[in-house]
Amino acid sequence: MEHQSDIAYGNHFLMGYLGRDLSHTGLGLKFDFIVVHESGHEWFGNNITSKDIADMWVHESFTNYSESLFTAYYWGKAAGQQYVNGIRENIENDRPIQGAYGVNQEGSGDMYYKGANMINNIRNAINNDTLFREILRGLNKTFYHQTVTGKQIEQYINEKSGINFDKVYEQYLTTTQIPTFEIKFSKDNKYVSYRYSNCVKGFDMPMVLKSEDAQVQLHPSTEWQKQSLASAAQANLFNPIAIEYQYYLSCKEVH
Ligand SMILES: [Zn+2]
Repeated sequence: MEHQSDIAYGNHFLMGYLGRDLSHTGLGLKFDFIVVHESGHEWFGNNITSKDIADMWVHESFTNYSESLFTAYYWGKAAGQQYVNGIRENIENDRPIQGAYGVNQEGSGDMYYKGANMINNIRNAINNDTLFREILRGLNKTFYHQTVTGKQIEQYINEKSGINFDKVYEQYLTTTQIPTFEIKFSKDNKYVSYRYSNCVKGFDMPMVLKSEDAQVQLHPSTEWQKQSLASAAQANLFNPIAIEYQYYLSCKEVH
C-alpha cells in the first residue's frame, strides 16, 4: 500500500494481485499489480489528494486507470482497452461511487473499476490522446501537492477538453444505473436513430465511434436523433457489441 513516506508491500512478488488477474484477460498477469497500482498513487492520491474521503474516486479511479495506461504502454492501445473492459466484471453497482460529504464516508468500491471505465468513456469521447495526456499531466501540475474536491477535478476536465461532462459524472458517480444507448435502423438502412434511456435527466455523453475505415462523432441525448449512413462501413459502427466494448454502457438495437 502507498502512503506518503510509509510504504508497505504485500503482494508476495507475484504477478497480478496476489497471483490473480483482476482483468480476467490474461493481461493482469503480465505485471505485479501492487507495484503498478501503488506507483500510480504517486500522482493521484499523493500529489493530488481529495479533501473529503467521499471523493476518494479521485485517487482510485485514476490510479486504476493508470494500470490500463501501463498495459497500453507495453502491449499496445488495444490491450489497454481490453484491460479496462475486462475489469468491468468486478463492478458491483451496489451504491454510488461518491460518498456522503462531511461524515467521513467512502463511496462504493466501484470507485476502482467503474471509475476507470468512466475515465475511459471520457477519453474515448474526447478522441484525442494527446489532449487526454495533457489533461492528466495538467491536473497534476495545476493541483500539485493540493487537497481538492472532486468537483475541481471534474471542472478541470470540462474546461480543458471543451466538453461539459457534468451529466457523465452525475451518472457514473452518483447513481448505480448503467445508461442504455438505443439504436434503430431505418427500413432502407439509410439512417440510424439513437438516444439514451435508463439514465439521469439530461444525460448527454458524446461518443466517437470509429473503425479502420469510418468514424462518426455523436452527441446523443435522451431525445431521438438521426444520423445518415453514407456507407456500409459507417453502418457497421453502430454495432452494439462494438459500442459496449468501447464505452461502459448498455447498447441495444430496438425495432
Ligand atoms: Zn489504490
